[in-house]
Amino acid sequence: MTFSDLGLCPELLRAIDAQGYTTPTPIQRQAIPAVLEGGDLLGSAQTGTGKTAGFTLPMLQRLKDGRRPAKRGVRALVLTPTRELAAQVGESVRDYGRHLPLTSHVIFGGVGQQPQVDAIRPGLDILIATPGRLLDLQQQGHVDLSGVEILVLDEADRMLDMGFIHDIRKVLKLLPEARQNLLFSATFSREIQALANKLLDEPTLIEVARRNTPAETVDQAIYRVDRERKRELLAHLISSRQWFQVLVFTRTKHGANRLAEHLDKRDISAMAIHGNKSQSARTRALSAFKSGDLQVLVATDIAARGLDIDELPHVVNFELPNVAEDYVHRIGRTGRAGHDGQAVSLVCVDEHGLLGNIEKLMKRELVKHVEPGFEPDPNAKPEPIENGRGRGGRGRSNTPPRQQAAAGERDGQSPGRRRRRGGRGRRRSGE
Ligand code: AMP
Repeated sequence: MTFSDLGLCPELLRAIDAQGYTTPTPIQRQAIPAVLEGGDLLGSAQTGTGKTAGFTLPMLQRLKDGRRPAKRGVRALVLTPTRELAAQVGESVRDYGRHLPLTSHVIFGGVGQQPQVDAIRPGLDILIATPGRLLDLQQQGHVDLSGVEILVLDEADRMLDMGFIHDIRKVLKLLPEARQNLLFSATFSREIQALANKLLDEPTLIEVARRNTPAETVDQAIYRVDRERKRELLAHLISSRQWFQVLVFTRTKHGANRLAEHLDKRDISAMAIHGNKSQSARTRALSAFKSGDLQVLVATDIAARGLDIDELPHVVNFELPNVAEDYVHRIGRTGRAGHDGQAVSLVCVDEHGLLGNIEKLMKRELVKHVEPGFEPDPNAKPEPIENGRGRGGRGRSNTPPRQQAAAGERDGQSPGRRRRRGGRGRRRSGE
């Protein structure tokens, strides 16, 4: 099967050719004809499946076919949870739409709004946005969503995790009744199902990833260790086991920086990527990592999500994630498509509760190891987890306050918006 068999127009086929794609991925084979027909779509797909092209290509074609005189307003709206993902979708829209006379722009928080306002003012075919900034601009009268023909919610599960449900509901109220809706989510909690039921009209269902089940090829190991010795243990494991291409997850941006510096000092080449790094620094780090020049990439969950890095031999949880399902996302970066992968988690006494939640979600106990020379102190007392949820206590003194770190990773929303969300935290259905 080729892209032209899917009914795409010559302008898109030329752009696809320029990307070097020869064969559509499974999700593209299913999504492209369904979206071209104009119906709603519910897609269960993770990053790395080609889902972005799966919705972008037919969306571009529909907008081109239905081209109408430019007026103020937006014809297609793509909502994403993070600026990173918004930028990536924006890039795909530009790449695939390069031979079509369609306009697009990406907006997200944390940067000045005037250039965004100027770009939106004349009207746009495609607006890619994070919910917070979109509503800020809409409330100031800069965005007209009353003519939206196509709505895409990308990584909807992540949007709900990040507390965007109220913003999404507000956005939905601003849209016209008659429109095409596409919803993508890697997981299907009850909340996502409720959102899908409300939003979608007889959707085509597409599933290319299994639900909440990490690849069976991933070997998962827990190393118990004292919190102060994690960095040392990680450097030791990387050197002694000769790991290359290691993706390491930390909970905070600050922690990612410190860890990358520590590894670098030990002659293990490492770089950190997170929301405070410039786009060019992130791109540089990612391409060095992919090409094998960089041994270790240290990332926060949100920075890593949406990045096209998978099928890695080693994923390390330097700290366990606060939300058990993030563990599944993290280790899903390794062992894909039949490759063997290894996921190692360094767990200190503070994290026993988080580990319990993960084991509950996975419905099995994970194998625990102790590395000789790194035996944990049996009398160590747990401390509150920095950036942890549901803990009122202050984090350790050398870490940024929880609110700041968590909100900064998001979307650069106004402090008021942040406060309102702060108490609610992430809800999970416990699937
Ligand atoms: P996504 O899941 O949309 O993040 O895409 C993952 C990666 O696959 C991106 O780097 C795309 O450029 C690439 N990609 C998408 N579709 C194809 C295809 N049909 N053939 C080869 N690569 C693709």
